Amino acid sequence: MVRIPSSVRRFARSFADNGHELYLVGGAVRDLFLGKRVEDFDFATDALPDTVRSIFRRVIPTGIRHGTVTVLFEGNSFEVTTYRSDGDYSDSRRPDTVSFAPSIREDLARRDFTMNAIALDPRSMDVVDPYQGREAISQGRIVAVGDAAIRFAEDALRMVRAVRFAAQLRFDLDTATQAAILPLAERILAVARERLNREYAKIMESERPSVAWRLMRETGLLPVVAPELDVEDDLFEHLLATCDCVPAGNAPLRWAALLHDVGKPECARIVDGRMTFHDHDRVSARRAEDFLDRYRFSKAERERIVHLVRNHMFGYSPEWSDAAVRRFLHRLGRDAVEDVIALRIADACGKGATLRMTENLRSLKKRVDEVLGQGQPLTVSDLAITGTDLMTEIGLSPGPRIGILLHQLLETCLDDPTQNERGRLLAIAGAFARETWGGSAE
Ligand code: ATP
Ligand code: MG
Repeated sequence: MVRIPSSVRRFARSFADNGHELYLVGGAVRDLFLGKRVEDFDFATDALPDTVRSIFRRVIPTGIRHGTVTVLFEGNSFEVTTYRSDGDYSDSRRPDTVSFAPSIREDLARRDFTMNAIALDPRSMDVVDPYQGREAISQGRIVAVGDAAIRFAEDALRMVRAVRFAAQLRFDLDTATQAAILPLAERILAVARERLNREYAKIMESERPSVAWRLMRETGLLPVVAPELDVEDDLFEHLLATCDCVPAGNAPLRWAALLHDVGKPECARIVDGRMTFHDHDRVSARRAEDFLDRYRFSKAERERIVHLVRNHMFGYSPEWSDAAVRRFLHRLGRDAVEDVIALRIADACGKGATLRMTENLRSLKKRVDEVLGQGQPLTVSDLAITGTDLMTEIGLSPGPRIGILLHQLLETCLDDPTQNERGRLLAIAGAFARETWGGSAE
């Protein structure tokens, strides 16, 4: 039996006291029937937004054009939408108009999948389920409300929502629902990329993103939304396996895993009878960047992911000196090094490597942690002196020589961290400046 927080019941009572209906709808009802924890409660009501605003003290007009307000109630924020039926969809995007509807049944009819088209009265616990959504939930099936082709043509985003839900809930696509996608896949181009990005984010948060990406391919969506991922079977499966090997919760790393080899096809060459993929890290980074740009990832996310893809091909052997470990850290940056190693471990796992086969990488991780723990200088800003010191103590003028010298000093400290001491660095800097630029320090 589903359980509903008492604040939700009191919330519904406030509507009833004012002569209005209130139903719990959408993902909340679905997740209650699935026995999952529900955090976002969405409601539908026959009350108009202005009426809702008059009943409660604290109401935020979050989507007033679509009839949605957010009510702050007993510490919750509840989204309440007036029963709606959507007008015409002229371009596979969003309805041209929305109009308020008289009953919950009409409101349910505009919803995408039967599992999302169930309403629950929080007081009586009566269920309105005109499309057998509970049955679909118990069978683990994603079924379009009504004619799938019509519903996908109305709003093409629903096709990607279908594959997203498949990964998120580990449900299967109903045969007719899945079959409707292929002929309409191109229409996904009409959908705003930001909306697609939000679905992708949910795919990447799911336990196994591969479920969604594989379905994207089977339904013909993949070549339209992500041609760079539409590579030959073996490579495609390797990208998916690598992505799944990264635990949920680190989205940038999962994106890097999914994209890390997308440049391989264009780099394939046969050299001395062997297949090689020279430069594929660089080309993959470029392709990854195209994809991330297209889907409006933030600059910070994009740079992080591209950096990981770009650097996934380092070689490590236990013979590396500590200085080599420090140089590696310097090259990749403190913030990225852990993910770069994790990406390589996932890459190996995506090729079927065992834990023992990734021992080498895990020993590198240990050495990296040791170096990080010792607080040794890894960047110019870790040095015991600054550019200003070089000007005041050695008499350099502002200009590129300052940067050159600081990098020279960092090189010295990467080799031997004990050199990172003000007096020593000034002495080394002075000698270097004299040797390189002669008597004049200018
Ligand atoms: P999640 O757990 O990801 O929030 P959700 O089902 O709540 O899943 P939302 O995007 O929050 O998904 O949408 C809430 C509800 O609104 C859905 O359950 C569905 O009934 C309806 N809905 C959302 N997007 C669409 C759409 N594009 N077409 C039709 N109905 C939609
Ligand atoms: Mg939701």
